[in-house]
Parts: sequence; C-alpha cells; structure tokens
Amino acid sequence: MRKAFICPTKYVQGEDEILNLGYFVKSFGESALLIAHKDDVARVKDKLDKTCEKFGITFVESGFKGECSRQEVARLQEVSKKNRCACTIGLGGGKAIDTAKCVAEGEALIIVPTIAATDAPTSHSAVLYTRDGAFDDYAYFKQSPSVILIDTTVIAKAPTRFLVSGMGDALSTYFEARATSNSYSKVNAGLPCGYREGTCGEARGTNTALALAKLCYETLIKDGVRAKAASDCNLVTPALENIIETNILLSGIGFESGGLAGAHAIHDGLTILEGSHKYFHGEKVAFGTIIQLVLENAPKEELNQVLDFCLEVGLPVCLSDIGVDSITEDELMEVAKKSCVEEESIYSMPFPITVESVAAAIITADKIGKDYKEKRMCK
Ligand SMILES: [Zn+2]
Repeated sequence: MRKAFICPTKYVQGEDEILNLGYFVKSFGESALLIAHKDDVARVKDKLDKTCEKFGITFVESGFKGECSRQEVARLQEVSKKNRCACTIGLGGGKAIDTAKCVAEGEALIIVPTIAATDAPTSHSAVLYTRDGAFDDYAYFKQSPSVILIDTTVIAKAPTRFLVSGMGDALSTYFEARATSNSYSKVNAGLPCGYREGTCGEARGTNTALALAKLCYETLIKDGVRAKAASDCNLVTPALENIIETNILLSGIGFESGGLAGAHAIHDGLTILEGSHKYFHGEKVAFGTIIQLVLENAPKEELNQVLDFCLEVGLPVCLSDIGVDSITEDELMEVAKKSCVEEESIYSMPFPITVESVAAAIITADKIGKDYKEKRMCK
C-alpha cells in the first residue's frame, strides 16, 4: 500500500520568539519579503525592528492587499524578485499565511502565525480567492513551510476566541484521521504540487500521523480548559504552550497526513446557512465533529467527553450555538447535499454515506447537544 506523510522542516515556539526571526532569515540570505496585514505588523513592530538589528537583515514590506488572489500573488512575486529577497515570510492570520505560501511556491518560506485559530500554518496547501473574495481554487506545493515560528507571548495576548476556535479545528483531527484510516481513504499528504490540475496522488495515512492525531485529542482534553484560562489572562503557561502546539502542529500534521472525513465536509455544508457566517471555521468544525460522532454512532462515553469539552471551553454543541436558531427542511437538505458533493472528504467515513443519513445526523446531534447543555446547566 502506498502511504505518505508531510510536515514542516522546522517548528519552533517560545516566548518572544519573533526576536529570533532574523536568525532564520539569515539562514537564507540578507532580506525577506514580509507579507502581513499592517495591523499585525504594528502588533510586533518592536520585535521585528530588534531582530533586524541583531541579525543584520532587512524586511521588504509588501503592502499586502489582504486577499490571496492570483493577481496579488503575481504582484508579490515581482516585488520579491525586484528586491532580491532570499525568503518569504507570512505573518499574521490565514490570508497572509496562504498568500506567502503561494508566493514562495514551497521554497524558503517562514510562517509566523500571530493567532492559533486554525491548523493551516503547517500545511503545504493554500486556498486561492478571486479579487472579489470568492473561492477560486486549492493550491498544493512541493513542500510544507521551511520554518514555523511561533511567539507564544503574542498568541497569549490575542483574543481567547481565536485559541478556542483553534481547539475546535483540532477537535476533529483524531476522529477524522481514525475514520480515514478505517476506510483506507487517501490523505492530502499524497497530493502532487501545483494548482489543482491533472491527476491526484493516491496515498494512505501512516501510523505516525494517526498517533499524532490521537495525541492532539488527548492534549485538548488534558490542557484545553487551563489553556483557555491562561489566554483569558494573556499569560503563557505550560498548558497554553501545549495547546498552541496542539492547534497548530499536531492538528496540522493530523489533518494533512491523517486525513479529513465527516467533520470538515459537514462544516462545508453548514457554511451555506446565513446565521453561521459570523462564526469561525473551528467553531463550526467543533459542531461538525459532534455530527460526525452521531453519524458513526460513536460510543456514548466518547460523545459525552467531546460534549463536556466543548461546553467547558465554550465551543458550539448545537445549531443555535452557530447562529442557526431555526432550520427549514429545504435548508437542512441543502446543507446535507453540500456536505456530500462528490469531492468532499465525507466519503472517507468507513461506511456508505447518503444525504438522508447526514441530514438525520445533523438534526439528532443538534437535539443531543441541546439536551446535554440543559442537563449540565440544571446540575
Ligand atoms: Zn480545519
């Protein structure tokens, strides 16, 4: 059987770690193209100036326009060429990071997340949008980023909702990897580089990825609540450090090399509901995880543990928690249909999938979540 595993070349996290960014730039050359939103640059400006001075490097500021589009990527590649930048830095949240991945095309790339809201920083893929912000295509590169550099002090000071959302994204990782493994479905780690064209590489997940996905879930259960408390106080504690690693590294490797299944496909379906738009990716993925567990009739203890976790850290357990107070039969079927389009990861579940079974799981999970929440509140 053909198997594949992919991960970043180096992962480093620590307090005030941005002070060492210059060291990593220096390993490529004298200057780096800095792709970041100006507000994110402002948050860490002091540290950027200090690291430039200490390591004798320069950042070429790119005037990033905020959208990861083909035009913006081409413009930034020109800026990089003209200034002879030795490497590319993506600093901030999802868009800056994805744009940096597209500009670097798998070469000499340093990712500096300033929030731990998703597991995207470690992956070798990015999402392209049109200039108007509509979905364009997925892009896959020959390598994951060269360096993931995380300043835990910066993450601790970001709003807690980002960290909790990252935990929601990480919550699905083990259950989706387990389903993918049980069904011998393919994983993203096997995909070829380049914008999505031609044939897909077919590879199954490794035992390594499944073990890391398991550790991802175990760490959430062990440290999630304490990490949230630390984030509320804007402080770095061992629990917060563990959760940052879980949200970004374990979940990132887990989804790319362990595989996606029901939770993310159902997340994609839920996005068509207007009310859900103001909720983050990881928040919807958390409820998608509960729906997947209902769909696969997971053991009661497992489902209860996930529900307890969600309620303790403040992740959604029912539709109204993601802004959907009522749903019509038609809307429900639309959500289920979108979760079940041909290219969706839902077919990595180890049993046959129908639109009706997904719709039933959504409604049942909503009821179970609501009842569970009420029962806990009465205690
Ligand atoms: Zn995700």
